[in-house]
Amino acid sequence: MKKSIIDELVSIFGQDNVLTEREDMIAYSYDAAPVEIEPEAVVFATTTEQISQLMKLAYREEIPVTPRGQGSGLSGGSIPLKSGIVLAMDRMKNLIEFDPNNRLITIEAGFTTADIDPIVAEANLFYPPDPGSVAFSTIGGNVAENAGGLRGLKYGVTKDYVKMLKVVMPQGDIVTLGSKCVKHVAGFNSELMFVGSEGLLGIMTEVTLALLPVPQHRESALAIFNSLDGAAQAVSDIIAAGVTPSTMEFMDNATINAVQNFKDCGLPRDAAAVLLIETDGEENSAKAEMAIVEEQVQKNDLRNFARAQNSAERDALFAGRRVALNALASVKPNLILEDATVKRSVLPDMVRGIIAIAEKHDIQVGIFGHAGDGNLHPTFLIDQSNKEEMARCHKAVDELFQLAIDLDGTISGEHGIGLEKKPYLQNQIGASGIKLLQDLKRMFDPKNLLNPGKMFDMPGEA
Ligand SMILES: Cc1cc2nc3c(=O)[nH]c(=O)nc-3n(C[C@H](O)[C@H](O)[C@H](O)COP(=O)(O)OP(=O)(O)OC[C@H]3O[C@@H](n4cnc5c(N)ncnc54)[C@H](O)[C@@H]3O)c2cc1C
Repeated sequence: MKKSIIDELVSIFGQDNVLTEREDMIAYSYDAAPVEIEPEAVVFATTTEQISQLMKLAYREEIPVTPRGQGSGLSGGSIPLKSGIVLAMDRMKNLIEFDPNNRLITIEAGFTTADIDPIVAEANLFYPPDPGSVAFSTIGGNVAENAGGLRGLKYGVTKDYVKMLKVVMPQGDIVTLGSKCVKHVAGFNSELMFVGSEGLLGIMTEVTLALLPVPQHRESALAIFNSLDGAAQAVSDIIAAGVTPSTMEFMDNATINAVQNFKDCGLPRDAAAVLLIETDGEENSAKAEMAIVEEQVQKNDLRNFARAQNSAERDALFAGRRVALNALASVKPNLILEDATVKRSVLPDMVRGIIAIAEKHDIQVGIFGHAGDGNLHPTFLIDQSNKEEMARCHKAVDELFQLAIDLDGTISGEHGIGLEKKPYLQNQIGASGIKLLQDLKRMFDPKNLLNPGKMFDMPGEA
């Protein structure tokens, strides 16, 4: 990068907030996806105005800019594909306003998701979206990926809570979108354009989120099944019986064993699958819902149904699910974690299909995830240095996405497209769908400088 540009970056951000040495920038060349590309510079923003100045400079000099939260994304979204500048948001993490009367909180985009609840708990409120990465992901990254979580089944995902956004546009303009009112129809619903935009359309710097009252009571249980089909069918039956648990998480036998090897969470190694189920709300209704859940699981090859009697038991039940990804990651040198999602009614077909694909290509797989909303995480366990195994794994991934599409599902329920699923997006939304995305991108970012090469290629870019 030219010295004059580095000097300009230093004058905008200050010497301590600009990195240009290779060894300092390694951590900014990858995220949780298995790809690594080095940037030319990393800048740490602390104000919206700095980001506006950065984008004006980048636009003038035609330098790609890749926004980055904590780099926990699983689709390669924060990898600087075209090098250029990584804009690190993790030092922009102030609380701007907590407004308990209107059940709103406004925070800077680098705020860590898990840090919201301790602030709002004093008013008996909570922020429902809780991705497995809640302890380290940023709210800007959550908005950019429309992150879901363990409570998505009942409480929805990030998009259901975004009220207002402050955004720096690719040419440096600062816009404030949305409203703090419960109802707001002045103009397009343009704040939602940025939810799930994966850093392609603008840089979120401030986010206003809706909060909910903490449910009065929670009932938690672990259902242990003798067959995979039984667990998958139970999910479908529970929903069909009219109950919407706040959580319904699935782990198959491979995941259970990986968890037990990683940390003893008391899970039965010989079970085919388990479901972690939670109902919440007013005490009587949470208990009545859990009774219906129990009725439904009993019909589906159930081995055991254990209810937590207190919060310590509940935490113990959830401990295994919280470490599932790390546990699977320790089985083989590498993993490919997918988030293809289907309607709950076809979950048994999806589970059977995943197992058949893994067997056909002789790839180890662990399946866990948010089964209640049809969002499974089939996780292929591989060794990237084994080229022959990788070739088989790629075929398995191709077939997995096609299976999801054939079942009227989606190639991504929560991790986004980024780099990893770019080759598959057209199968999902068609050529006209891709053209619409390209047209929108061109309108927001005519020089294609903000996170270029992600989600789809612009004409002539590939
Ligand atoms: C162990 C583990 C568990 C996970 N569990 C879940 C889960 O349950 N549910 C789920 O949905 N995801 C999950 N994830 C994926 C990941 O944590 C989420 O996608 C999260 O939202 C990413 O946040 P981040 O701050 O790390 O963003 P990054 O990974 O840094 O960035 C993600 C994308 O957002 C863009 N971006 C970041 N900040 C901004 C900003 N301020 N403005 C504009 N664009 C921006 C980046 O350019 C990139 O495209 C998990 C990841 C891990 C490692």
